[in-house]
Amino acid sequence: MSIVYLNGEFLPIEKASVSPLDRGFLFADGVYEVIPAYHRRLFRVREHLNRLDHSLRGIRLASPMNHDDLSVVLAELVHGNPGNNQSVYLQITRGVAPRDHAFPVNCQPTVFAMSTPLPDSDGGAGGAGVSAITLEDIRWLHCDLKTIALLPNILLRQQAIDADAAEAILIRNGEVTEGAASNVFCVTAGTVVTPAKGPRLLPGITRDLIVELAAAHRIPCREDTVTVATLRSADEIWLTSSTREILPVTTLDGVQVGNGRPGPIWSEIFRLFQEFKRELAAGTQQL
Ligand code: PMP
Repeated sequence: MSIVYLNGEFLPIEKASVSPLDRGFLFADGVYEVIPAYHRRLFRVREHLNRLDHSLRGIRLASPMNHDDLSVVLAELVHGNPGNNQSVYLQITRGVAPRDHAFPVNCQPTVFAMSTPLPDSDGGAGGAGVSAITLEDIRWLHCDLKTIALLPNILLRQQAIDADAAEAILIRNGEVTEGAASNVFCVTAGTVVTPAKGPRLLPGITRDLIVELAAAHRIPCREDTVTVATLRSADEIWLTSSTREILPVTTLDGVQVGNGRPGPIWSEIFRLFQEFKRELAAGTQQL
């Protein structure tokens, strides 16, 4: 049975309930984080909580809990749920109030967290990579905020699924922004490029770690504009996220990427990422 956290209490998911007047339910007025835990230790929790603060500031909601208290709650949640590796979901909404667009006065935010087992990442389709399609980015201009208003992302991801693809790679004004639920990397002539951060994309925690690992191991890597032309002619394309880690895209819009197999730089970065996780589990790596 899964144990969840809701407003100060740990309880079985079946017993957890939220009012239909919660602004998360009525307006998608809230933000969230997804934090992986490997060997029951939260991964990059400081970075995730900093990004949560950025999202909270972006929707003008004062944080109802500090980082230390949130970290204790999340660690306890991981401890009380099955799976050595888990994916922790944390959501904060503006709370329960009579339905009105205007911010409620003196409203207590709703804090909810749950955790599910996280399967090992194998590079997609047993190491063969995945397919992606390109779609126009139809979202708003604050995509750096991790809000629970995910309808555009859901519609885009479903279009990808309907086309037998694992992800939609989004394009705005001829430039790649990110995936429907992932960041995007390209490799051209040995150099890794990922779109620079800004309001058009989520600053992915996995993305930042890959940029860090590339720098530490002298793999050429730039944060820059990625045009559709760059994407289409890339030798390698990867998708990154906390739950899918680093997935090689081997087919884009039905066309083979590179030689149609996961590339050598993906293999190297995937190895470095797994090594980083092992060091973390062994306690030799900073969280
Ligand atoms: N972009 C979007 C739109 C996402 O939903 C996600 C996954 N939450 C990411 C990027 C990747 O972010 P992270 O590596 O922090 O999971």
